[in-house]
Amino acid sequence: MRYSESFIYTLKEDQKEAAIVSHNLLLRGGFISKLASGIYNYLPLGLRVIRKVSEIVRQEMNAAGALEILMAAVQPAELWIESGRWNDYGKELLRIKDRGDRDFVFGPTHEEVVTDIVRKFAKSYKNLPVNLYQIQTKFRDELRPRFGLMRGREFIMKDAYSFDADEDGMDISYLKMRDAYFNIFRRCGLAFRSVEADTGSIGGKDSEEFMVLSSTGEDEIVVCDSCEYSANTERAESITQDEPGTEKELRKVETPNKQTIKDVCEFLDKDEQFSAKALVYKNEDGKIFCFFVEGDDELNEIKAARATGSIELTMLTDEELEKAGLLKGYIGPIDFPNKDIEIVCDKRLKNRNALVVGANEEGYHFVNAKFGRDFKYRTADIRNVKENEICPRCKSGRLSKIRGIEVGHIFKLGLKYSKAMKAEFLDKDGKTQPFYMGCYGIGIGRTAQAAIEQNNDEKGIIWPISIAPFEIEIVPLDSKDIGLVNFCDRMYDYFENTLGIEVLYDDRAERAGIKLNDMDLIGIPIRIVVGKKSFADNKVEVSLRRNRNDKTLVDRDAAIEYVVELREKLYKELEKIREV
Ligand code: ATP
Ligand code: MG
Repeated sequence: MRYSESFIYTLKEDQKEAAIVSHNLLLRGGFISKLASGIYNYLPLGLRVIRKVSEIVRQEMNAAGALEILMAAVQPAELWIESGRWNDYGKELLRIKDRGDRDFVFGPTHEEVVTDIVRKFAKSYKNLPVNLYQIQTKFRDELRPRFGLMRGREFIMKDAYSFDADEDGMDISYLKMRDAYFNIFRRCGLAFRSVEADTGSIGGKDSEEFMVLSSTGEDEIVVCDSCEYSANTERAESITQDEPGTEKELRKVETPNKQTIKDVCEFLDKDEQFSAKALVYKNEDGKIFCFFVEGDDELNEIKAARATGSIELTMLTDEELEKAGLLKGYIGPIDFPNKDIEIVCDKRLKNRNALVVGANEEGYHFVNAKFGRDFKYRTADIRNVKENEICPRCKSGRLSKIRGIEVGHIFKLGLKYSKAMKAEFLDKDGKTQPFYMGCYGIGIGRTAQAAIEQNNDEKGIIWPISIAPFEIEIVPLDSKDIGLVNFCDRMYDYFENTLGIEVLYDDRAERAGIKLNDMDLIGIPIRIVVGKKSFADNKVEVSLRRNRNDKTLVDRDAAIEYVVELREKLYKELEKIREV
């Protein structure tokens, strides 16, 4: 592509709306443009990257035996009512009506539609297994759309769905997808890791997420320093070895003006671990829950939602607390004042013999409270694992936390949808059986942007070659030197038309500095610069975007061959597993 004939508009200034570097660079490099909150247009450069990522995904899906289809984006509500998710999916679901006032949704995911397709056609065990996938635009009305393509409302996803006759078959389909995912993210040049995950509203049993490691990632991952264990904090567990404390008689004590658990414990000279703090939330139906966790623990909202069968939990405001009859700063599990509120305690509280807890009375707390003796409620794992706790798998390693961007997610759904939607086939004995299903998603835009988050410098993007919008750039520094320009024209023509390699040819009559800066921002992996002086010496200058200090002067006649080899070398590097 000739730059002069392209539609590339770079921006000098950092973009205020971008909170992370990859979003800023996508906007500044002219890859995307914003249409509305969480809704973006893909400009030519952006679309090229999206197509590159999609093609890698497509090749690996096909190689794993999945078949490409394209499902309708707009789906009738009936299917969602059948699966039960019309009620369960929450506000992320974009509901729309047609002119006849009939309900539809713009698909956030396609379990219902694909299950409907398969139950119509695959009537016998002989038709199984089957795995159908698509690459398509989804819509989710995210609470906090942000970070550009990372958390959009409209975004492109690859979603695949496997259907098997039994559980063993489902496990095999799942493992095939898992292998394909490793290939995909490796080929995209990412440093990633697979982790145990929560199954969320899609529901099911085993589930793993593929995380691109990055300090700006929205997900927190717990990893063991001695075994393979790694899990999303939404799911992670740990072994804690705490002293239970000595059992003593319950006493009410004055704690004037001490409202935070930290202040209270300091005042009473108690360790925060030996206290229970209250966190009060309401769910999507307005039902209120009070969660108790140890004073120095954090509540994990996803675990808390799972424990209470909620879709979304929001913390009560001060006014709402007051209305519910709860005294901020003094909420405790003993003689809890509101019987309509459901209480869940973190399971660690069961092991403590002497806790500081609020007395539900202004200026008072209890000391020496004991679970089972002074109060008793349902318990569940609702806390965040802390650094340095012991690994639940190997039972000896220590846990630490890193951050990641979830680019892919694979689930074993089991019978959840097939049962709800009566999706059945005839087995060998002529009996009807529900399908064992799996589902497998990849965020195409998120993957592309995660690659930028991992590969950039102060000048701009450093694309892995496999997903770069162009593989090579040619930059003539003097557009008035006819011989030089002719040489570049020929080189460009040869790459594009003889070798079929995509080149961005900066044929603009701009100053050298502007051209080089734009190209650095856009981040094409291999550069050929043809300057007046080196050209006169029969040379061109070749460099990699990732290491501009290392420039090689190559003989003019050998330039193409040299660059083709360099390109192959970059692809070869991607064959190395980058799972970390
Ligand atoms: P998250 O926890 O980030 O909201 P999710 O669990 O809702 O993700 P899935 O339903 O598993 O995501 O969707 C499959 C993949 O689609 C994700 O792994 C992610 O790469 C991508 N994805 C999900 N939501 C978005 C979004 N709002 N914008 C861009 N990509 C997304
Ligand atoms: Mg989500």
